[in-house]
Amino acid sequence: MAPKPSLVTEEGPFMSHRLVVVGAGYAGLSAAKRLARRLHRHDVTVTLINASVRFVERVRLHQLAAGQRLATLSLRQQLSGTPVELVVGQVTAIDTTARTVWIGDEPRVIGYDTLVYAVGSQARLDDVPGAAVHAHAVAGPEQAMRLRNRVAEIASGGTVAVVGAGLTGLETASELAESHPELRVRLFTRADDLGSGLAPRGRTHLRRALDRLGVSIHPQTVVTTVREDGFDTRDGRTFAADAVVWTTGFRAPDLAREAGFATDQRGRMLVDTTLRSISHPEVYAVGDAAAGVAVSGVPSRMSCQTALPMGRGVADVVAARLTGREPGPVRIGYVFTNISLGRRDGVVQFTHADDRPRRFVLTGRVAAAFKEAVVRGTVRAGRHAEPGNGELG
Ligand SMILES: Cc1cc2nc3c(=O)[nH]c(=O)nc-3n(C[C@H](O)[C@H](O)[C@H](O)COP(=O)(O)OP(=O)(O)OC[C@H]3O[C@@H](n4cnc5c(N)ncnc54)[C@H](O)[C@@H]3O)c2cc1C
Repeated sequence: MAPKPSLVTEEGPFMSHRLVVVGAGYAGLSAAKRLARRLHRHDVTVTLINASVRFVERVRLHQLAAGQRLATLSLRQQLSGTPVELVVGQVTAIDTTARTVWIGDEPRVIGYDTLVYAVGSQARLDDVPGAAVHAHAVAGPEQAMRLRNRVAEIASGGTVAVVGAGLTGLETASELAESHPELRVRLFTRADDLGSGLAPRGRTHLRRALDRLGVSIHPQTVVTTVREDGFDTRDGRTFAADAVVWTTGFRAPDLAREAGFATDQRGRMLVDTTLRSISHPEVYAVGDAAAGVAVSGVPSRMSCQTALPMGRGVADVVAARLTGREPGPVRIGYVFTNISLGRRDGVVQFTHADDRPRRFVLTGRVAAAFKEAVVRGTVRAGRHAEPGNGELG
């Protein structure tokens, strides 16, 4: 058999190039698979490291928290038929000098020539005192399960307070209210109003839907301390709650910052338009863990609509560079924002590529069906789902 062609790197031709992707979410999984496809004629190894053996459908974690069952999706099945090697373990450190990643408490060390950083994001529980100890979150499956267990314990008439009315807060409050009509769900936001990124029709529908579900809305509320039984606000009020759910936004894990990469305030790796780290050219970042720039210069939104094109784009960029071509920028443009409001209602806000809302909005059952089709389609397109893998929750 003829030898596989050499790759071109800054150090000169390479025989076996080690591509390592950390994180198998929407961005990392698509990057690893596409890298393997793009470079299959070349002498490369593609290793995908993920904390879990499952693919976690993060966009459904509010459903898990509300008591619904989710399909569990096997990464091994997803990768079957590809040369991608899956390593299950938590990366605890990156040594940029030795070009290695460290996995687990009794470290296993894996070397890389090119690294793709795709570790996603987590809840901002360090925003205010007490949140990390007392508040719940829906950013990861363990957190969603903990909230689900807590909600199941709350007696009828009890209160769940959702703090933060971005997309995750809206979806979580709606889902909890629909699945648990016996509970009072209250939604708190520091903003003056809800749905700032929506056209007027979307905002009106959002209000009506929350009203129908019995979610009470508390604007201009700045939480300063979370306690076991509620929270305090900047204007001196105290609210009681049986569970406080913290949905004030996401931040990236500390891994990149601790390893000495250039990062932004939210811990996201700073990258150029080809998703390459601005401090370490052999490293790329994608998805929620990357501070990218979408078309027309707006900062990239932490979403699947960013993670998926970044995952595909980084594979094209790396493949181009390793085969001696200079890639163009990865273009990220937006088409819509999807908000589920329980299982039977929603708002789909169509957007310009720079994420500004267009006038066109879908609402109600049509929007719910649209969102469900998008979420399922995403999984099917990546073939993350395999039948018979069981359920989560
Ligand atoms: C409840 C909820 C609802 C959402 N709804 C929507 C929506 O409707 N539409 C939308 O576009 N977006 C939505 N999002 C946001 C969306 O889920 C994220 O933007 C998306 O998951 C980002 O993809 P990613 O690949 O960057 O990261 P993730 O999907 O978070 O994947 C990161 C992967 O990295 C792994 N990992 C992390 N750290 C390590 C480590 N140290 N070592 C090894 N592995 C590691 C994780 O286990 C995970 O598998 C929602 C998020 C939540 C929480």
